[in-house]
Amino acid sequence: MTDKLESLNPATGDVVGVYAIDDAASVDAAVARARHTASWWARGTFAERAHVLDQWKGVLTRRMAQLADVVHQETGKPHGDAMLEIGLAIEHLSWAAHHAEKVLGRRRVSSGLLLANNAASVEYLPLGVIGVIGPWNYPVFTPMGSIAYALAAGNAVVYKPSELTTGVGVWLADSLSEVLPGQALLQTVVGYGETGAALCRADVDKLAFTGSTATGKKVMATCAENLTPVLIEAGGKDALLVDEDADVVAAADAAAWGAFSNAGQTCIGVERVYVHDRVHDRFVAELTRRAREVHAGDDLQAHFGPMTLPSQVDVVRRHIDDALTRGGTAAVGGPDAVGDRFIQPTVLTDVPEDSSAITEETFGPTVTVNRVRDMDEAVELANATSYGLGSTVFSKKHGAELARRLRSGMTAVNAVISFAGIPSLPFGGVGDSGFGRIHGPDGLKEFTYAKAVARQRMKPLLALTTFERDTKTDASFAAIITALHGRANQFSKRPLNLRGAR
Ligand code: NDP
Repeated sequence: MTDKLESLNPATGDVVGVYAIDDAASVDAAVARARHTASWWARGTFAERAHVLDQWKGVLTRRMAQLADVVHQETGKPHGDAMLEIGLAIEHLSWAAHHAEKVLGRRRVSSGLLLANNAASVEYLPLGVIGVIGPWNYPVFTPMGSIAYALAAGNAVVYKPSELTTGVGVWLADSLSEVLPGQALLQTVVGYGETGAALCRADVDKLAFTGSTATGKKVMATCAENLTPVLIEAGGKDALLVDEDADVVAAADAAAWGAFSNAGQTCIGVERVYVHDRVHDRFVAELTRRAREVHAGDDLQAHFGPMTLPSQVDVVRRHIDDALTRGGTAAVGGPDAVGDRFIQPTVLTDVPEDSSAITEETFGPTVTVNRVRDMDEAVELANATSYGLGSTVFSKKHGAELARRLRSGMTAVNAVISFAGIPSLPFGGVGDSGFGRIHGPDGLKEFTYAKAVARQRMKPLLALTTFERDTKTDASFAAIITALHGRANQFSKRPLNLRGAR
């Protein structure tokens, strides 16, 4: 087994960094260091932690361009796109640091009538050490969704970046060490899948995984050995719906960005579009015009870069071939759009619903566009997937209603991917897209455990939890429960009205 990992530029094949691989012993040592720091960090106040994270935010912000260079070199994405993901990650870091106290801090809750002699409170305490395993497609924004929220909640983090974007992971950990020298608040462990598996087996209190569904299952199985809880942010097959009253030009613009930006290597990228019959042709004309105007390359004018993971090229080729063999049409692109490293935009129309271009995550700059007779059919087809990550709706009148009917963790209405940039919104999916949430209050709570405390302030009127309890107390208790809950249920007399429910 090699003990060095070479990070390559996917556009050129050049080596851009060489790193020593962490084996299981080295991962365990990192987790032990993190545990030491975690107990110190957990003792701090929310304000003290926010102060440190603010300083880190300052470093990230002032050196955005430098970090963007590393992202550009390791993923091949345009520098501007790298800046965009870093800027959004900084927004999230700031939100997490400054909302942790409000979301997680101790608050009193009602103790109820039966135990009114108690004061009840709840707070959310840090778990300790969080292992984070991340993908390569957004090597700053995606792992920071776990890292920033875990740190703000009072944990230390050990991060295993994708082997393709090791340099970005190392850069992130180094930048926090500059702010907080001598503390192992965020460490990066380097390697391939075995290093990730070692992190799953290490003494971590939770494992936050972002990557493919298949690897997510392996991570969950490995973590089960120690009953380590997991957060799984996996793949998607997101749909965009265009209603008959939609702003068709805006919808086509959103579909083009959602499908082609980052070479389609976006977990919440637009992979399928369902368009109302009345606006279908106009939408296809607008989308194809845009698709012809953008190109993949490593030139300065390129709108997106190469396929970061070389083996993904074959997946994209297979999906295009399958769609065309089964009767679909390439309105733009097609098999010739697939090069060795770069794939040009491809728009596939009238694609059979059982084609792999519709059923499997493509993760490339392709999109399918199918006509629907109405939005009921659009919702049905959009939901006919094992994934459930994000979705998009373009509709003037029915945006919110359609959003609710889509089985996905997040929906953008009349815009694309907008939910990811709103730090107060939770991010995550259902089904094969995983479970648990990063971002927002849910994302902070994900890295904590609820601590409930009931403090007796005075002796109870009825002493219930004692062997001294007598029959008189039992009778009083029964009378109180009957008075509280024993009346004929007023609601049960009313007929159920579920007509409005879908
Ligand atoms: P992978 O599942 O291939 O890898 C994810 C991470 O897991 C990598 O760091 C990888 O290391 C590591 N890993 C591999 N094998 C194991 C193992 N046995 N145990 C522990 N860790 C392991 O995903 P990709 O990096 O290819 O990312 C693309 C996928 O991520 C897509 O499916 C995409 O949809 C999804 N994604 C989901 C997001 C979300 O928020 N829901 C956001 C972004 C992407 P190594 O790379 O060294 O093999």
